[in-house]
Amino acid sequence: MKNNNWLLYFILVGIVLGGICGWWFGPQMTAVDWIGEIFLNALKMLVIPLIVSSLIVGISGLGDITKVGKTGVITLFYFMTTTAFSVVIGLCMVNLMKPGESVEMVSEIPEGVAGKKGMGITDILQSFVSPNLIKSMMEMDILPIIIFSLVFGGVLTTLGEKGKSVISFFDAVNEAIMKMVHLVLYLAPVGIFALIASKLGAAGGGDAFWAELMKIGKFAFTVIAALLFHALVVLPAILIFFTRRSPIKFFKGASAALTTAFSTASSSATLPITIECAEENNKVSRRASLFVLPIGATVNMDGTAMYEAIAAIFIAQMLGIELSFTQQIIIFVTATLAAIGAAGIPEAGLVTMVMVLQSVGLPLEGIGMLLSIDWFLDRCRTTVNVWGDSIGAAVVDKLEEKYVEGG
Ligand code: ASP
Repeated sequence: MKNNNWLLYFILVGIVLGGICGWWFGPQMTAVDWIGEIFLNALKMLVIPLIVSSLIVGISGLGDITKVGKTGVITLFYFMTTTAFSVVIGLCMVNLMKPGESVEMVSEIPEGVAGKKGMGITDILQSFVSPNLIKSMMEMDILPIIIFSLVFGGVLTTLGEKGKSVISFFDAVNEAIMKMVHLVLYLAPVGIFALIASKLGAAGGGDAFWAELMKIGKFAFTVIAALLFHALVVLPAILIFFTRRSPIKFFKGASAALTTAFSTASSSATLPITIECAEENNKVSRRASLFVLPIGATVNMDGTAMYEAIAAIFIAQMLGIELSFTQQIIIFVTATLAAIGAAGIPEAGLVTMVMVLQSVGLPLEGIGMLLSIDWFLDRCRTTVNVWGDSIGAAVVDKLEEKYVEGG
């Protein structure tokens, strides 16, 4: 995206126009749905080859196994602490603002959630390994693909010359895919316009959307305020502290990824653009971005973890259930795990919320209350998820330079 400031402006115009047309023309705008789908599918098409080649190149670029280990620990530490911060912010906000008080719960268990059993730690661990990688690829089940690529890349580094030729093959694959990402980016302004306009249109246009939002307006406000605090205060502070970079410039560099996250509601579909923005605009080393971003898009979801915690307490408040401190700690832990377990696809967080609610005995019907507006809040939390990943790549890059490269 070198010197492509104009592309960014077009993307912004796409968002604004999409919002206005969807708001104004309502369901008529579903007519442009197919344009959005083409853009979305073009991105999705690149995700699997990108993840596999990125991780193989990323892990082999890190060097020997001790360096991989150290970088892995730094990355996981970043993921865990930032997610924990975001859940704590969510818990403080929801306890302070009490959005569930005076809201009556009238809903049923939504279809997608009915019959789902809560995920436990063992389920999450089990999802790390797939007996059939092709099936996982077809289903965009990314966690086992990540594990396979990491191990495969690691093993290649131990094979000497033979391994090097395979690594350079994947290196070329990766470069080719990134060139394709450049091309897909040219579709972004129109694609983003179509996605936003058609989604808002499908929700009935501006007035219907507003009416739905206002039904649980205080809840939506709490979620958005907490997300903004995490995105505009906590994450930038971490960026400044560890890298001394300007968050404003970094934000500008990442904005194509953030706007794509908002319009697609999928961290995984956004991944190609997240990598592109990190490398080209924000000058994060290729090594760090190829290692951190694919993993981050799947397991590091600050916005989702925060959302799950706020939603659980909101449901308890609606029912007049007073949750003890211990129960809130349980929500803290399960919301973090649920976010790790959630796939980087639209509304995945709603399904993993089953685990959070069940852990403290809250009824699943509560999820029904969030359903009508989740498509919108999902976009907001996905944007924060991608922002957290982007900053993570810069932080790991810096720490790696300091502690791993330097020995
Ligand atoms: N849509 C989110 C993402 O892709 C996951 C979720 O919270 O539902 O990051």
